[in-house]
Amino acid sequence: TRRVFSGIQPTADSFHLGNYLGAVRQWVDLQESRETIYCVVDLHAITVPYDPQVLRRRTRIAAAQLFASGLDPERCILFVQSQVPEHAELNWVLGCLTGFGEANRMTQFKDKSAKGGADSASVGLFTYPILQAADILLYQADEVPVGEDQRQHLELSRNLAQRFNHRFGETFTVPAPYILPAVSKITDLQDPTSKMSKSSSSPQGIIDLLDEPAAIRKKINRAVTDAESVVRADDEAKPGVTNLLRIYAALSGEKIDDIAARYGDGGYGGFKKDLGNLVADTFGPIRERTAKHLADTDALDALLEDGARRARAIATATMAQVRDRCGFPAVN
Ligand code: ATP
Ligand code: MG
Repeated sequence: TRRVFSGIQPTADSFHLGNYLGAVRQWVDLQESRETIYCVVDLHAITVPYDPQVLRRRTRIAAAQLFASGLDPERCILFVQSQVPEHAELNWVLGCLTGFGEANRMTQFKDKSAKGGADSASVGLFTYPILQAADILLYQADEVPVGEDQRQHLELSRNLAQRFNHRFGETFTVPAPYILPAVSKITDLQDPTSKMSKSSSSPQGIIDLLDEPAAIRKKINRAVTDAESVVRADDEAKPGVTNLLRIYAALSGEKIDDIAARYGDGGYGGFKKDLGNLVADTFGPIRERTAKHLADTDALDALLEDGARRARAIATATMAQVRDRCGFPAVN
């Protein structure tokens, strides 16, 4: 069976609908057909200024939401990145194989450092995609489920795997992207031409997995649409309605055309009302299960420690090989 690796940052008090459809729900589904390894990437979360207490809380919330969404410790490995120190070690080795110009071409750094300016951004934010490559390559992953926003980073991971193999001998599996086009980019409800994102939007534009049902319905009711009043998909002319249709289709399992045909020119009110209920009904049980996990942090931490132990068995085997290939003495 093919092995899948993916990670998610604990950078908010809840995942959002884009994370859910673009990542979490696929992670759950992939447990059926793949060997799955998933990671809460707390090392990635410290690339921007942060508060350690907040990070500690968010790491648990992230893990609780993932278990609540259907990740099953019997069928997957879920762990916290910092509990497997080999990530940071491989990051160094891969950093020494990455050209400065190559790293400098990563567009997410440019986007994310745009506000404060590249000079005040951390070197960690700049080298973030290299750590991401280390995450993936440590586990010899065949496939990496990600949204469209991660495509360029995955390309770097592939290049680094190939480069290492070429210079030092066959060591890493070259990972392939696993991107479901239909949900690869869920957009902001208030600004439907930009990605729904934890870091760069007003709360009205984001639906959180842990939002109360009333808040979910309200945000969808107020989602930006257009003046045409016809429910149909058209990315150019109707990005808002098209985004809502995409969400509806992903959650109901129906085809976009069938949904559009049903609501047609009946206006947006009924369509938004039904979509609000659909999202609220999907997220409600997940919210309740998340609260249960968070009510027993000892049990949650024990699940994560077990995940880290299993992840580390794979990571140390890869690193032993890497150290040897690099000309380092063995670590006993
Ligand atoms: P940030 O804006 O801080 O980068 P994020 O919302 O992009 O946060 P990440 O932790 O970087 O969250 O991404 C987690 C996963 O969710 C990744 O696989 C990413 O591709 C996916 N993802 C994030 N936003 C969306 C979106 N709007 N639509 C589809 N997938 C998304
Ligand atoms: Mg992101």
